[in-house]
Amino acid sequence: MRRPTMTKTAWIPRIGVLAIQGDYEAHAQALREAGAEAVLVRKAEQLAAIDGLVLPGGESTTFLKFLERDGFLGALREFVAGKPTFGTCAGCILLAEEVLHPAQESLGVLHASVERNAYGRQIDSSIQVADTALAGGPLEMVYIRAPRILKVSEDVRVLAERDGFPVLVEQGHLLAATFHPELSLDRRVHRYFVEQVLARRGDGTQKS
Ligand code: GLN
Repeated sequence: MRRPTMTKTAWIPRIGVLAIQGDYEAHAQALREAGAEAVLVRKAEQLAAIDGLVLPGGESTTFLKFLERDGFLGALREFVAGKPTFGTCAGCILLAEEVLHPAQESLGVLHASVERNAYGRQIDSSIQVADTALAGGPLEMVYIRAPRILKVSEDVRVLAERDGFPVLVEQGHLLAATFHPELSLDRRVHRYFVEQVLARRGDGTQKS
């Protein structure tokens, strides 16, 4: 029997987390808490079935080694050119147009120059609290062998800084953080990304 009033079901975006290495489980959990369905992505074929992607922290050199097999890197390049992608720490390094210290290959879509391990060794990892452009007051930021975004182009919006350098940036469909938002309890950054994915539903074109 038909019910007299129909309620619209909200669309839940499917967001992939590159699950090769690093803290992908924490990202998947954070995405679920932010209202998305999280999918662990281990094969290039899976990219066709997701609305957005998180490139987690870890070791960018290890990611590259894995991605260079089986044409995964090429498929990923195509995906990040037009679909919402959020890179954190090593993920931010993968997205950057220029990588320094040392120079290495990347997906080259984020108009930024990024220096790897810029804050020193593992022991120099830290937790900071700072203001961001997101509503809701200061945000906890966990830095682990973090890169530094040395410079960005004019089309990149800086959402937060540390010592005058960008730490959270947005460029059209791309979001990148040099810290690890998935390791804090605050879900604002993941929610912000989920909202980006919702806003670009069905839109495969680049808007940067
Ligand atoms: N130092 C790592 C790299 O260069 C990034 C560290 C991280 O993702 N926490 O890839």
